[in-house]
Amino acid sequence: MKTAALLCAAAFSFFTSIAGAQETYPSQPITIVVPFSAGGPTDTVTRLIAEPMGRELGQQIVISNVAGAGGTLASGQVAKAKPDGYTLLMHHIGMSTAPTLYRNLDFDPQVDFATLGLVTNVPMTLIARKDFEPSTLQELVTFVKANKDSVVYANAGIGAASHLCGMLFMNAIDTALTTVPYKGTGPAMTDILSGDVDLMCDQSTNTTGQIKGGEVKVYAVTTPERLGNLPDVPTTTEAGLPGFQVGVWHGLYAPKGTDPAIVAKVSKALQTALKDPKVIERFAELGTTPVAEDQATPEAHKAYLAEQIALWKPIIEKAGVFAD
Ligand code: ASP
Repeated sequence: MKTAALLCAAAFSFFTSIAGAQETYPSQPITIVVPFSAGGPTDTVTRLIAEPMGRELGQQIVISNVAGAGGTLASGQVAKAKPDGYTLLMHHIGMSTAPTLYRNLDFDPQVDFATLGLVTNVPMTLIARKDFEPSTLQELVTFVKANKDSVVYANAGIGAASHLCGMLFMNAIDTALTTVPYKGTGPAMTDILSGDVDLMCDQSTNTTGQIKGGEVKVYAVTTPERLGNLPDVPTTTEAGLPGFQVGVWHGLYAPKGTDPAIVAKVSKALQTALKDPKVIERFAELGTTPVAEDQATPEAHKAYLAEQIALWKPIIEKAGVFAD
C-alpha cells in the first residue's frame, strides 16, 4: 500500500514536471542543427527564419552546423537527441532521398522524427566557374561529353541536393563526371569562385548573388518557369534538357517523442516566421518563397515526406547510385 502510494506520488510529480516543461517551453535557447556547412543555402534559409521564430517563441535560436555524409550525419544525431524541443533539425530534399541512397542509414526519416512543417521550395541553378568555356546549356552538354575525364563537378556529398541535381544532369546527358564532395555548397562555391572546380548545381539561395554579380556562369534553372529575379536565365526545358527538373524543399524536424504541445508551438512559430515581411523579401531576392501556411504544418510535412520518398526511390534505383 505504502509502495503504491509512493509510486503514485512519483508518477504525479513526473507528469506534473512534464506538463510544466510544456507550459514553460522554451525556457532556454533552442538549437537548430543544419546538416551542411555555414554559408551554404540550407544554412542561409535556416538563419533567415531563426530570428523571427526565436522572437515568436521568446527565446534565442542558435544554429549548429553538423556537416558530413550528405546531411545524414546530422540527421542521425538529431534522431537520437533528447526529444525536449531544444534540438531541432532543418533538412531538405535529402531527407527523402537518403533512405534509398544509403544502405546503412542509422535512422528512419518517417519513424525517428516528428515533422514540424515545410519551409520553402528552392529552385536549382546549373552554374560553372566564370571562365569555363561553354556559354549555353547546349554548348555545355557537348563540351562535357567531349571532356568528361577532365570536367570536375562539385557537390555536398551523396544525399545532398547538389548531388541529386548532378546525378539527374549526368543521367540526362548520359555522361558520368568526376565529382568532388564538400561538406556543403558554401565551401564548394568558394572553390567554384577560385576556379578550382568547374561545375555545380545548387539552390538559388546560394547562387543568385554570384550569378547577378557575374562571378559565375549560369546555364539554366531547373524549374518549369523562369525565375523573377533571374529573368534572363533559361529553364532547362527552354535550353534543351526537358527531363531535367528538380526543386529543393526544406522542412523542420524534432526527434520523435517530442511532446505534441511543443511540436504545435514550434510549428506555429515557423508559420509566423514565414509571414515575416523581411523573410518574404529576402527569400524573393534569393529566388524563392515561403510555403503557404497550411504547408508549414506537421501533417502536411509528414504527408509530403512520404510522397517524396516514394517519388525518388525508383529514380535513384534506376540511376544505381548508393552509399554505405
Ligand atoms: N545545397 C547543399 C546541397 O547540396 C547543401 C548546403 O550546403 O546547404 O544539398
